[in-house]
Amino acid sequence: MVVKPEWLRVKAPQWQRVGNVKEILRDLALNTVCEEASCPNIGECFNAGTATFLIMGPA
Ligand code: SF4
Repeated sequence: MVVKPEWLRVKAPQWQRVGNVKEILRDLALNTVCEEASCPNIGECFNAGTATFLIMGPA
């Protein structure tokens, strides 16, 4: 049996923290690359409190 390396494993995000970041983004009317591109890393990044902004508005 092949064991996946530890760095390949992604922990499930804490969705409450992700929701908090999304709420802040909505409150401040900010647009992010993360959401516009449906980035697959969004759970990990939002869970860590990071996001990449679109400074010219929505795509
Ligand atoms: S900050 Fe994270 S979620 Fe946003 S675009 Fe970059 S990798 Fe994706």
